[in-house]
Amino acid sequence: MKIQVTKTTTPKEKPDAKNLGFGKVFTDHMFIMNYTEGKGWHDARIVPYQPLSLDPSTMVFHYGQEMFEGLKAYRSADGKTYLFRPEMNARRTNATNKRLCIPELPEGDFVEAVKAVVDIDSDWVPTEPGTALYIRPFIIATDAFLGVAPSKTYLFIIILSPSGAYYKNGLAPVGIWIEDEYVRAVRGGMGFAKTGGNYAVSLAGQVKAHDDGYSQVLWLDGVERKYIEEVGAMNIFFKINGKIVTPMLNGSILPGITRDSVLQLCRAWGLPTEERRIDVAEILEAQKNGTLEEVFGTGTAAVISPVGKLRYKDDVFTIGDGTIGEVSQKLYDAITGIQTGAMEDPFNWRTQVC
Ligand SMILES: *Cc1c(COP(=O)(O)O)cnc(C)c1O
Repeated sequence: MKIQVTKTTTPKEKPDAKNLGFGKVFTDHMFIMNYTEGKGWHDARIVPYQPLSLDPSTMVFHYGQEMFEGLKAYRSADGKTYLFRPEMNARRTNATNKRLCIPELPEGDFVEAVKAVVDIDSDWVPTEPGTALYIRPFIIATDAFLGVAPSKTYLFIIILSPSGAYYKNGLAPVGIWIEDEYVRAVRGGMGFAKTGGNYAVSLAGQVKAHDDGYSQVLWLDGVERKYIEEVGAMNIFFKINGKIVTPMLNGSILPGITRDSVLQLCRAWGLPTEERRIDVAEILEAQKNGTLEEVFGTGTAAVISPVGKLRYKDDVFTIGDGTIGEVSQKLYDAITGIQTGAMEDPFNWRTQVC
């Protein structure tokens, strides 16, 4: 892929690395590439970060034909910049695209584009512990047309945002609201796809949970509303009686790259793992009989998010002694150690950008 580069003549001031937060500040450049039916993907370019100008009838605004990805670039102590398993994001992009009738994007081009734009803005990768450069690739349908059909033109764009440490004072347990009214996805729908619609549908449940003081929603299956699916933007794991248990990939949950990494690490450590259907009643029972040892979410943003409290209907209960579980902490240390180059990389998960 040939990428044409136009560098900014007015570089921005870098933000204070101690107060980055998430998704508010963007770097100097962005990657952009067009798709036109009959011509394929074309005109790959890196340009100064700038607004888009789109016709108000542009399809994505009306029918939501779009996808996104999320990954990070990490700075090692010796000044190198790494990506974590970007080929998995490339593969997942095409799984999402297929479901949403968005044309396939060559996986090599996806990784090459991410590397090229991160390389140009590599001085934006923050260096404070726990910080990283968040990478947001996305594709939108751009035909100016109100008919309901797959668009014939698209834009693939990558923007970059330096993001702060998710945990400032060590892993902090969160409270989770098990949602029994709204559902996020159903089998045959698009729950496995990384697309904005899955977030739009989740907002009402999230607002309800937040109003009650919970930070995340745990979704149940859309049919029987009793099998555990996932948490908003994270997959969920339970340690029950020494076993690491997580819902199987059934089509309605997002196949997280952190989820896959956690399963591989647990297996390498000799911990028994199970991917299967989990009835919420089983979790309540394990909690009551004292075999529910740890609960944690997994995702690119927080890596591991320990769950300290669960609410289901009228029941509220604390997990373990309310502190961080041993496996949760070990997984967090291993994954972040590999991502930042502080630890060996036995699975070849790191890709060096520069
Ligand atoms: C992105 C995402 C995850 C986590 O995936 P990772 O690849 O681990 O970051 C989990 N659930 C949903 C709904 C997501 O969009």
